[in-house]
Amino acid sequence: MKYPLQFIAITQYHHQGKCLDFGWSNAHGGANVPVYSIADGVVTFAGKETGSGNVVYVKHTNGMVSNYAHLSKITVKKGQNVKMGEQVGNMGNTGTSAGNHLHLSIWSSMSAYQKSPTKTDVDPIEVLEVYSDQEIGEGTKKYNLKVHVDTPTNPKGKVNVEGVLNVRYEPSTAHDRVGTLANNTEVEILGEEGNFYKIRAKDTNITIEGYASKDYIVK
Ligand SMILES: [Zn+2]
Repeated sequence: MKYPLQFIAITQYHHQGKCLDFGWSNAHGGANVPVYSIADGVVTFAGKETGSGNVVYVKHTNGMVSNYAHLSKITVKKGQNVKMGEQVGNMGNTGTSAGNHLHLSIWSSMSAYQKSPTKTDVDPIEVLEVYSDQEIGEGTKKYNLKVHVDTPTNPKGKVNVEGVLNVRYEPSTAHDRVGTLANNTEVEILGEEGNFYKIRAKDTNITIEGYASKDYIVK
């Protein structure tokens, strides 16, 4: 899950349960910057609420519910699907608010929200991550926000053989075959040992993993 603002500046830490308030800076787009959904989900409410002012609720695909309060403007409608990082509104000063800021609440489920709409049960610091297109304000660095790390993708190769390529349990032609792969099959290269690559590939509908001679795989 991703922080809801491009410039992340926490101004109030863990109030009303575990909510966070975020501020703004003139150097980073001013007071009415876009507010983004923290994850994929569906908008369950978009409108006015006492206290929260203009507010958007999103029920996420992992079951969690998030709420973005005091918005100056709402840019989504109830029932709309949103992606992580998609704009739901703009930061504002509506409802019970003493200045432009974003109030973010996260509940673990819709029933947790219904049981306790004014007190959240999820700590945003625990579930949100900073992505490479986001920036952390100086004063917020002390909170040690989690940084998103992309899972590395393995290099790809292609089978180049007359007939079929033997994939074996161990990096030696003396070992049994896990299976065979047809010419031109795309493979994932997981590692190498001597003249063998450790590969993974889909053969019709099963996934084969094992060793194959480097001579028959082009990177
Ligand atoms: Zn707040």
